[in-house]
Amino acid sequence: MKYISTRGQAEPVDFAGACLAGLATDGGLYVPESWPQIAPATPGEPYAETAARILSAFAGDAIPTDVMRRLCTQAYDRFAHRSVAPLTQAGPGLWLMELHHGPTLAFKDVAMQIIGQIYDYLLGLSGQRMTVTCATSGDTGGAAAGAFAGAENVRLVILHPHERVSPVQRLFMTTTGAENVLNISVDGDFDDCQSMVKSMFADKAFSASVGLSGVNSINWARIAAQSVYYATASAQLGHRPLRFVVPSGNMGDALAGYVAARCGLLPGGLEIHCAVNENDTLARVFNTGKMTRQAAVATPSPAMDISVPSNFERLLFEVTGRDADAVRRTYETYAQQGEVDIPEAARARLSCTGLSAASVGNADTLAEMERFRQETGWLICPHTAVGTQIARRLKPSDAVATIVLATAAATKFPETVKEATGEDAPLPSRCAELVDRGEVFERFASDPAAVRARIAAFAG
Ligand SMILES: *Cc1c(COP(=O)(O)O)cnc(C)c1O
Repeated sequence: MKYISTRGQAEPVDFAGACLAGLATDGGLYVPESWPQIAPATPGEPYAETAARILSAFAGDAIPTDVMRRLCTQAYDRFAHRSVAPLTQAGPGLWLMELHHGPTLAFKDVAMQIIGQIYDYLLGLSGQRMTVTCATSGDTGGAAAGAFAGAENVRLVILHPHERVSPVQRLFMTTTGAENVLNISVDGDFDDCQSMVKSMFADKAFSASVGLSGVNSINWARIAAQSVYYATASAQLGHRPLRFVVPSGNMGDALAGYVAARCGLLPGGLEIHCAVNENDTLARVFNTGKMTRQAAVATPSPAMDISVPSNFERLLFEVTGRDADAVRRTYETYAQQGEVDIPEAARARLSCTGLSAASVGNADTLAEMERFRQETGWLICPHTAVGTQIARRLKPSDAVATIVLATAAATKFPETVKEATGEDAPLPSRCAELVDRGEVFERFASDPAAVRARIAAFAG
């Protein structure tokens, strides 16, 4: 199985190459050369087994199937719910897919836990050590810490904006006690952290000297791992026609649903509704065909405060008929002019993919959290509420089951839950001990040179 770049100017690589590199050398994103056809899940199949089958199809010869099975078992044994991504019925024809039973209570654990295993295995094979570096606005950093803490062949560096992540989110990053994890708190915002990481990757000499690698949401392994729960959801509901509503930021999660369908894992057919907050780039792309640069604004659903939905590039590659030149031109124009029109033919095909996107305002998100609580008695996180609000706006249908992805536990956002519903959302007991552990992080000014020097010393 080979992976090619959406911009067509990087050498094809195997699964290991695609995972460990993250971004392709031409600035594009890796996609499989062709879509493998994979047998749908069955209702009795354990989650780790479905994951092993699907990930083996994507890994090809890079990882033997029995090894993949062991890695998946280790990764998914750490979830608090045996079915990993359980569906719970929330109303007539409406289900929540609970993706927050992992160690850091957000859906990013589902992919990150297996990526931690895959990285350690692949690097062990080649005798390398790498420095995984990520910028986080909250959930990614915790999920990465949960996955890589104690890994033998990986050092992890997490940059977060000082006092701009929620206290609970920070606890998950800073209390691992592991020597291979370095937390850097930057006096700045998420974009400052992100641009420091980007410039480290762009500096080839630095990047080679510390063995830099990234696990942000453009990493193919994350998409592959996230396609698994679409397959298990379809099996649980008897492979009937499905409508997924996916709270979206970088669009990795929604794209994974598209990938699952392309690989034959959703025999009943599907629609995917991307639910975005006031950072509505994706909704505008789907509805007007125009991609426009706009600064991100802070909302009650911070993990979705993203102005450039990176994974849209993979979908664009498909709807241009895999025309890498068209994709490259589109993104070059966007980089230069801050806006670009999606090619006409691609736009027509986009409307046939089953995907769409719509935006929910801040006030509606908070109102939805309270309305949902009144209807079901459950507290949902603000990201999930963006999804349930979109589900409400869709035309009800007896033929189609609607599944909203619950992307984080309400308890991860206690301040917002309190504001919206007046209720307290205490941490589950398995996490409460974090509070007593003591946090470890180092605070830096927004000074790229100082941060780099620290990372070089950490990796040295
Ligand atoms: C990351 C995240 C999202 C957005 O997922 P994307 O794959 O970036 O679209 C939604 N909700 C929560 C809680 C998240 O952490």
